[in-house]
Amino acid sequence: MQQRAEVTAFVALGANLGDLAQALREALQRLSETPGVRLVRASSLYRTAPIDSSGPDYLNAVAELATTLTAPDLLTTLQAIEQGAGRARPYRNAPRTLDLDLLLYGSARIDSATLTVPHPRMGERAFVLVPLSEIAPGLVSHDAMKNVSGQAIRPE
Ligand code: ADP
Ligand code: MG
Repeated sequence: MQQRAEVTAFVALGANLGDLAQALREALQRLSETPGVRLVRASSLYRTAPIDSSGPDYLNAVAELATTLTAPDLLTTLQAIEQGAGRARPYRNAPRTLDLDLLLYGSARIDSATLTVPHPRMGERAFVLVPLSEIAPGLVSHDAMKNVSGQAIRPE
């Protein structure tokens, strides 16, 4: 059987309910245990105030993966890991035990009912751009960083 080539993907991790660092560590562990997914590197953890959301501060990070999964299959994997962490969606932008968003999947542009890549709001969020620039500085422009410089974010 032919093996699919690996694609570099970036995933944003966030949590603001429960044991935040534990939730992010477990999510990274789950990802690395998923067949067809290699965890290449993870950023350090950052604390951020909620945007368009309520509740306590978030802990955020970004991970680089190398994966043979398709983008929809990777999204399904991310959602299964969210569910495993007890993610509930009582209302839009509710506090969450774990949020996993697919930021980039190679150079793919995807616009389906369930998946938009690159993630449409990644350029507006310091909690994505700061950790992303830590592990992949070439992907984040100086201008993009300037656009989010008003948002409070600090290393954990
Ligand atoms: P949030 O936008 O705050 O991350 P959710 O995590 O509840 O909200 O996601 C809502 C929906 O967003 C999911 O059901 C998923 O189908 C859709 N979605 C679209 N594009 C993406 C993406 N790039 N990464 C993750 N989810 C996505
Ligand atoms: Mg999400």
